[in-house]
Amino acid sequence: KAELSGDFAQLMAWADRARTMAVRTNADTPHDTETARGFGAEGIGLCRTEHMFFDGDRIIAVRQMILAEDEAGRRRALETLLPHQRQDFAEIFHIMRGLPVTIRLLDPPLHEFLPREEKEFAEVAAVMQVNPEHLRRRALELTEANPMLGHRGCRLGIAYPEIYEMQARAIFEAALHVGEQSGETIIPEIMIPLVSTVAELAFLKERIDAVAEIVFEEKETRLTYLVGTMIELPRAAITANEIAGKADFFSFGTNDLTQTTFGISRDDAGGFMPLYIDYGILSRDPFVSIDQTGVGELVRMGAERGRSTKAEIKLGICGEHGGDPASIHFCHGVGLDYVSCSPYRVPIARLAAAQAALEAKAALEGGKA
Ligand code: PEP
Ligand code: MG
Repeated sequence: KAELSGDFAQLMAWADRARTMAVRTNADTPHDTETARGFGAEGIGLCRTEHMFFDGDRIIAVRQMILAEDEAGRRRALETLLPHQRQDFAEIFHIMRGLPVTIRLLDPPLHEFLPREEKEFAEVAAVMQVNPEHLRRRALELTEANPMLGHRGCRLGIAYPEIYEMQARAIFEAALHVGEQSGETIIPEIMIPLVSTVAELAFLKERIDAVAEIVFEEKETRLTYLVGTMIELPRAAITANEIAGKADFFSFGTNDLTQTTFGISRDDAGGFMPLYIDYGILSRDPFVSIDQTGVGELVRMGAERGRSTKAEIKLGICGEHGGDPASIHFCHGVGLDYVSCSPYRVPIARLAAAQAALEAKAALEGGKA
């Protein structure tokens, strides 16, 4: 079990006293959640749900859901996924009990879920009792030229609302269950990815709220929950004042925000980025650091515009930058409430957040003197 001890633990305790930003973690397995908590994470800022769908046989049901051409077929497939998701979330809520957990609804590029090989088509066709050839044609129809700019994030949730409804149900049921068992109140934070207009968020929030009402009626109890969004497209940052009207929180997804601001593919930047750094075209890899890249300005704009509509909106960052000390300094300056990073970066983030707070304080005092 990960734990900090001795002088290091003491140093961390001092850092915690100095810092004002909370440090959460990006984790989507019980193991990572446990590790991060041992390193002092104060909650989960991003629980991605994509990998959960590749576990065991689940992918067959996922493929069935995506390839089904009618809502009834999709709902049948989702019924088999619901107990798995409930279990996934219950384990994570249990480990993080007493601390906030942000669960992001499904956000894959669609093609990652499509069958590719003969055997994969045959497996799904057998469950759906259709001809594999039919499924192959359907998969071809769904294949995209630019998957990272296509059927991703909330677009998937809008095209297949049953998926997000199933996930919302699993989150509410798991939170109620763990709350009842542990005696701790679990306040889930449901996060919608890749929003570019407030209307997308409004469309999905309405459905999530409806699922909440159904579950609370069934269970004859209620819980508090938040619905928020990632700010990871330039348009979301620009229209953050509108989006804040429907969001309890924003989490800046600076991986996609960097990709879409620079127009550089996050999966292909490695081909030329080292050269760019060597030649001094860029001083740092923008996928690592948001300070002085322009992406930071969008974060600042999103935070300011969001707060102009809703002063109390909770603001965090969950892109890779949330674990980079220079970016953490930047986030402190913008006034974010928390950073979220991978479990092993949590101690670094605690230190960087403390340094940022101390430097800001010293600058203020220096200015006064
Ligand atoms: C992001 O885009 O910054 C983000 C955290 O989401 P993902 O990396 O899963 O796209
Ligand atoms: Mg993203």
